[in-house]
Amino acid sequence: MINQGECPKCGKRLLHVRIESVFGQNNDSDDIRCLSYSCIHCNMVLNVQLDPRAKPRRRTASAAAVVERVV
Ligand SMILES: [Zn+2]
Repeated sequence: MINQGECPKCGKRLLHVRIESVFGQNNDSDDIRCLSYSCIHCNMVLNVQLDPRAKPRRRTASAAAVVERVV
């Protein structure tokens, strides 16, 4: 496998990403578990997504449905 993805900040090839648990906040100030993906070289955050392991809650159910449709 040839990995050609590179970090937009430091330009190094993206062979690894750091995955961290973070909390997303919505207008109801109800924290939603999310995952952030960052470059291991410069810590540039590349992506944040809802944590698929998070237990669905009533308020977040509609948000999760939206994400699933987009993906
Ligand atoms: Zn980087």
